[in-house]
Amino acid sequence: MADNRLVIFDTTLRDGEQSPGASMNLAEKLEVAHALADLGVDVIEAGFPIASPGDFESVQAIARQVEGPTICGLARCSSADIDRAWEALKDSPKPRVHVFLATSAIHREFKLQMAKDEIVRRAVEGVKRAKEYCDDVEFSPEDAARTELDFLAEVVERAIEAGATTVNIPDTVGYAVPSQYAAAIAHLKKHVRNIDKAVISVHCHNDLGMAVANSLAAVVEGARQVECTINGLGERAGNAALEEIVMAVRTRGDFFGLTTNINTKRLYHTSRLVSHVTGIQVQRNKAVVGQNAFAHEAGIHQDGLLKERSTYEIMNPQDVGLPQTELVLGKHSGRHALRQRVFDLGYHLDEAQLQKVFDGFKLLADRKKVIYDADIEALAEAQIHSGPAVWTLEAVTCNAGSATIPSAAVCLWHQGGTIHREASLGDGPVDAVFKAIERITGVEVVLRDYRVRSVTVGEDAQGEAHIEAQYDGRNITGRAVSTDIIEASALAFIQVINRILSRKAAAAPIRPTETPKELAAAVS
Ligand SMILES: [Zn+2]
Repeated sequence: MADNRLVIFDTTLRDGEQSPGASMNLAEKLEVAHALADLGVDVIEAGFPIASPGDFESVQAIARQVEGPTICGLARCSSADIDRAWEALKDSPKPRVHVFLATSAIHREFKLQMAKDEIVRRAVEGVKRAKEYCDDVEFSPEDAARTELDFLAEVVERAIEAGATTVNIPDTVGYAVPSQYAAAIAHLKKHVRNIDKAVISVHCHNDLGMAVANSLAAVVEGARQVECTINGLGERAGNAALEEIVMAVRTRGDFFGLTTNINTKRLYHTSRLVSHVTGIQVQRNKAVVGQNAFAHEAGIHQDGLLKERSTYEIMNPQDVGLPQTELVLGKHSGRHALRQRVFDLGYHLDEAQLQKVFDGFKLLADRKKVIYDADIEALAEAQIHSGPAVWTLEAVTCNAGSATIPSAAVCLWHQGGTIHREASLGDGPVDAVFKAIERITGVEVVLRDYRVRSVTVGEDAQGEAHIEAQYDGRNITGRAVSTDIIEASALAFIQVINRILSRKAAAAPIRPTETPKELAAAVS
């Protein structure tokens, strides 16, 4: 590979999914994986196959269905982990097994209780086992940033000798500082004899807000793979944000002299998709993909922009795929135009889903004059979220006002084909609707957050309801869009209930010795 190519390794589906509240189901993971392939990432880390049956299934489905990128699965340095990872990956045309083992003194002593020579032996064994299955093997000395440099160099050298083609140097706990981390990479380049036989990779966490800075400092010293996630999702404060790494390298090509394979025009939509699927919103002032990333408020800036954009703008909003706010489709637009627009916005839908989007589009076009990209996104997203629903809304009405007790009547279909009606009083109209739905479904929802915002502009704008609930220690989110905010709220609430019911149904046992939490804690 050319020395000026930077490999983008996306771990949104593995490290990103470990963010509290970011869990995704199989259909959602596949949708994100397809979007990552369209974006042009080189490697997708699809999951940690031994962690749970669900993780295995999603890695396998991505390996079988997503073409283009290398598909990677994580494993500890144990035969059971590596065998299971390979089982999930083997149908991919470009599989990669990623094995890891902690190397820092603190992990050696307190977590693993292993001496240095034992660590080296296990690392070598793990890489060799993975190598029996596949040529493309990545090795990570976990907590590398806090590992003694000489020992780190020794482990890395032995891992390459055993067949590792990528050596990843993680800052697992987000402790590194750019110049020091860069010096560690320089040390490895100088002291690891066979370092030219492998790609040096970095994996940085953002606990001190330096994940992107640390990654880029390492790139200057010769790292040629960056592990990152969409929106910087990840354990605790998250990982290095893919969109920031990519746009820094591109905007400052004069400094880095590197290229990536990323189609930057798809960054914004991939960011939106991940935000919708996980329910984790992007902060407004987030670099590159935040709502305000290209908004100019100061009069002096606006004046400068009108004269010459580059006075205050270092990136072109179109280059990251910021959506247009103009009318894109109207009442008379055909199915073909809609299909194209849905694809341009970053969604992969099958014919049946497209038909539903088209039906929704026609209904919406009757209710509101102009249809924006955000309206179409909302329709498409509703398809991604629609799993087999136990409950669907037939009708909702409510009564509210300053001198009346708020009340609501709700009518729901059960998947068995029966219709159920309930009425309730509440503290407000939305509360009354939620209570009526709880009565019908028998599911009590512990609400953590409820928000309504408008997704487009104008008096006939669509309102999006966002609900976050707590169930069995996990966050469950629901989202729905309608020109009527009471209807949007009811739909989002029913989505939460359907998700709770499908989680109850799918609660499969994990390996008895380890809980997913313990496994997650063992992973960088
Ligand atoms: Zn990590």
